[in-house]
Amino acid sequence: MLGELKQAISMHDPEVAALIAAEDVRQQQTICLIPSENYASKYVLAALATSFTNKYSEGYPYRWQDGDKVARNGRYYQGQANTDALEHLAMQRALDLFTPNPERYHANVQPLSGSPANLAVLNACLEPGDTFMGLSLQHGGHLTHGHNVSVTGRYYQAVHYHLNDDEVINYAEVRALAEKHRPKLIFCGATAYPLIIDFAQLGEIAKAVGALLVADVSHINGLCIAGQHPHPFPHADVLTTTTHKMLRGPRAGLIICRKELGEAIDRSVFPGLQGGPHMNTITSMAIALQEAATESYQAYAAQIVKNAKRLAQTLQQAGFRLVGGGTENHLLLIDAVQSAENVRSKSGGYLAARLEKAGIIVNKNTLPGDDKPWLPTGIRIGTPAVTTLGMVEQDMDVIANWITRVAGCKDDDGTLLTVKQEVESFMAAREIPEAFAQS
Ligand SMILES: *Cc1c(COP(=O)(O)O)cnc(C)c1O
Repeated sequence: MLGELKQAISMHDPEVAALIAAEDVRQQQTICLIPSENYASKYVLAALATSFTNKYSEGYPYRWQDGDKVARNGRYYQGQANTDALEHLAMQRALDLFTPNPERYHANVQPLSGSPANLAVLNACLEPGDTFMGLSLQHGGHLTHGHNVSVTGRYYQAVHYHLNDDEVINYAEVRALAEKHRPKLIFCGATAYPLIIDFAQLGEIAKAVGALLVADVSHINGLCIAGQHPHPFPHADVLTTTTHKMLRGPRAGLIICRKELGEAIDRSVFPGLQGGPHMNTITSMAIALQEAATESYQAYAAQIVKNAKRLAQTLQQAGFRLVGGGTENHLLLIDAVQSAENVRSKSGGYLAARLEKAGIIVNKNTLPGDDKPWLPTGIRIGTPAVTTLGMVEQDMDVIANWITRVAGCKDDDGTLLTVKQEVESFMAAREIPEAFAQS
């Protein structure tokens, strides 16, 4: 199906087709350990390439009237019979997948990605200059949780909480800062945090100071819906998430909120921040949400955690120091600089670049305590992608062994090339699956 389309592109525009083909090869030959990346099914991919790409559908498939959604006619352009049905379907699937009682919540499936979704929530709930809280970027939070290079940090007053000395979220600090600053909203969720997030405690803190709790589960969405991580609801008022990453959908964002906040969130997304929704992406999202509502997805999520734990254990045995002492979710943070002497590196970037030469793709990451943000001392590793490839615990031992050899070798002793060849033959034996088991 996709092969035919690619064939057609190569006749039509060989220059672009060559780049697509090269990326296909790169993904097939290397091991992806970036925790925010994954492989989408051929159905999710194919749904991006449909006639919904051609359609403008500013507005919503419903209107708000006295705080209630009424059917139809919230669009600005005609010709919405199919987009309306499609968006309804995607919303319903999102609510069924993510909420304990769908009738109490509202879904907005239009955010173009995770960052716009977070900005939309702030824009809906705060006035410029209002105070909100989030986890510090250096301690694992996301840019959009108020970092000063993001508009979320420039237009609002952001107060940051941190990890404690044990590299666990400092809930006592969250409480103290919340009582002191009285934020209107508290963001939780992270982009680089290997431990469980205590949504119940954060919800209690938020409630005590009259703040909304927003759980950004972009990284752990699949674990939450599969019972591998506590669920943000009912503690959170709003959930934001990307639909790529662990969810294996298209690159997009999703907001789910208590029904009372629905109208404000909708107005914030459109017309507040965006124009026409990407209906082809919403088509694809609907498929991914259905794929994630299966038993096989539950098994997938469980295996992600088992794989991460095994990888952490094997790497620790090899001498690597891991932030937080290991992992409880899908990712781990290696302290590249302060690990045992035989596997220590100059910086996270140095180790990440070496691993890439050996066919293992990771990203460098700042760690708590880093004083030079441009020179991160860690690397971040995750198991969602390799678990999609069907890898299990024994495969994690193989990967940990490669990482150990790459970290420990001399630049010119041939190890990087040897590992690269081993990775390529390992990957040749496991094609990226075009579809996942159903039921
Ligand atoms: C990835 C991520 C985002 C942003 O997603 P984009 O799609 O890259 O904009 C937001 N929050 C968290 C916690 C993330 O991990």
